[in-house]
Amino acid sequence: MNEVIVNIIGTAQDAGVPHPNCFCQNCINAIHNGTRRFAASLAIIEPDRKQWHLIDATPDMREQMADIQMKYRLQGQIMNSIWLTHAHIGHYPGLMFLGREAIGAQGIPVFCGNNMKQMLEANAPWSQLVELNNIQLNSIGHEQQEQLSPSVRITPIEVPHRNELSETFGFWIEGPTRKLLYIPDIDRWDEWDRDIYDVAKKADICLLDGTFHSIEEIEQMGRNYKEIPHPVMTETMDRLQDLAEHTEIYFTHFNHTNPVNDQASAFAQLVQNRAFYIAEDGMELKL
Ligand SMILES: [Zn+2]
Ligand SMILES: [Zn+2]
Ligand SMILES: [Zn+2]
Repeated sequence: MNEVIVNIIGTAQDAGVPHPNCFCQNCINAIHNGTRRFAASLAIIEPDRKQWHLIDATPDMREQMADIQMKYRLQGQIMNSIWLTHAHIGHYPGLMFLGREAIGAQGIPVFCGNNMKQMLEANAPWSQLVELNNIQLNSIGHEQQEQLSPSVRITPIEVPHRNELSETFGFWIEGPTRKLLYIPDIDRWDEWDRDIYDVAKKADICLLDGTFHSIEEIEQMGRNYKEIPHPVMTETMDRLQDLAEHTEIYFTHFNHTNPVNDQASAFAQLVQNRAFYIAEDGMELKL
C-alpha cells in the first residue's frame, strides 16, 4: 500500500515562537535553546510517488520546505499543490518564495476560498505571482472533496474566524487507513453551526486550535477573554474528553505565551494527563 505521511512542519500561532519583539520566558527559551516553533502548517507526503503537498504557506516556508525535502529525499522536487486555510499572516505569505525573486515556480496549483482567490488576484505582490503564472489559483468550497492522488482525499470545511480578508477553512485529510481533521484557527466552538464533538468523533486524528491554554493565560496578558476569538485548550478538552481515549487529539497553533510551549510546565503535564497531545514541529502521522 502506498504510504501517506502527514508531517507537522509548524505548530506556532502566525508570528511563530520566538515572537517578534517579545522577550517573555518562552521566547527567551526559544532563542537560547533552539526550541523555536514555525508557524502552523502541514506537509502531506507520499514518499513512493515522490509527491508532496502543503497546507498553508507560512512565513517560515523556506525552512519548512528544506526540512521536508531533506527528510523525504525530495531535493529539488517542488510541492505538487498548496491548500490555504485563510488570509492571516501565518498562513499564506510563503507564496512569495514562489515568485520571480526566489524560486520562480511554474504553475503551482494553489487552492483557496473564493474571497481569498480574489484578494490574491487583485493585490500586489500576490497578483504578480498570478500574472507570471508562478501559481495557478483554484477555488475551494465547503465540503467539496478533491482527490490529491489515488491514496489521498482532501475536503475543506468552512469555519468561523475573523474573516477580514478571506473566508477560513479547516481540512479533512484522508489516507488509506486514517482520517485527520485539521482546524488550526477558529473563533469559539459555539459560533460554529456544528458541534466539534460530533465532527471530531468521525476523525482518527484531530489537530486543533491550541492558541491559548486557558482564560487565566489570556488575563495574565492583560487581555479580556471576550475579545480573544479562539477557544481555549481547557474548554476544548472539556468538550472532547470522552473522545480522547480513542482518538488522537493534538493541539497546535500555539501563541508564544502558551505555557505548553514548555514541555516541563504543569500545563503541559495537565494536557498529557487528560490524554491529549501537544504537537511538536517535525512530528509524523501516518495516514
Ligand atoms: Zn493563525
Ligand atoms: Zn513571547
Ligand atoms: Zn487566523
